Amino acid sequence: MSAQLLSIRELSVGVEDKEILHDLNFNLNRGETHVLMGPNGAGKSTLGYALMGNPRYEITGGHIFFDGKDITEESPAERARDGIFLSFQSPVEVPGITLGNFIRTAMEQRTGKRIRPWGFRKELKKAMDILQMDEDYADRDLNVGFSGGEKKKAEILQLLMLKPSLAILDETDSGLDVDAVRTVSRGVEEYQKDKNGALLIITHSTRILEALHVDRTHILVDGKIVTSGDASLVDEINANGFEKYIQQ
Ligand code: ADP
Ligand code: MG
Repeated sequence: MSAQLLSIRELSVGVEDKEILHDLNFNLNRGETHVLMGPNGAGKSTLGYALMGNPRYEITGGHIFFDGKDITEESPAERARDGIFLSFQSPVEVPGITLGNFIRTAMEQRTGKRIRPWGFRKELKKAMDILQMDEDYADRDLNVGFSGGEKKKAEILQLLMLKPSLAILDETDSGLDVDAVRTVSRGVEEYQKDKNGALLIITHSTRILEALHVDRTHILVDGKIVTSGDASLVDEINANGFEKYIQQ
């Protein structure tokens, strides 16, 4: 098993005939945490959607390799089975499916095995405790009537239960109060502890990163990675903004 998990090679992505991402290149190893920062409209979410295989985001050039396999042409369902997970900036409400059943079905699809309700429930409760979520939420319709913070917690709950090999978190911390960010961050930390899980965290805030180990930071401006560095780049951006990179 090679260390490399994700490899993006000269990746270009377009939306509605407009190229948004241009010739992106980077590699992410198993167990690593990378942070993706950039001004609004830089294409960060576009990269998340393209990695997940959202059909609205057309790959116009290059390749995505995951676990040594070219997944450029794979469907979102296949990529989910491969072990890629995307947490959305605005999670959708799904009436008629409870949070608990949604997660159990997703786990069954991922593993191809039937999951026994009792054991599942026990594990779910443990994860919900970490996220300080009331167990009742498992029986409520997915995201219906959930507050912004509860929706984000529900996403992290999926992360903890599904244990994907790559989790892409798109501004999971945006719009959350201090306590909720801490709780979400604790959940992400729990996922990170399991050394098999890698993360690509798209964020504007450093609060969620405080307790997390960061291996690499990438700055995306106008659909291009303008620089990459270690964890200290997060602090540098926080202090000085993106101006220096926009002017390049
Ligand atoms: P970021 O997440 O970095 O703020 P996005 O990836 O959301 O940036 O957007 C990058 C660019 O792509 C923006 O100019 C945005 O308007 C455009 N874009 C993204 N998604 C769509 C879409 N579904 N339809 C049309 N334009 C889109
Ligand atoms: Mg975005």
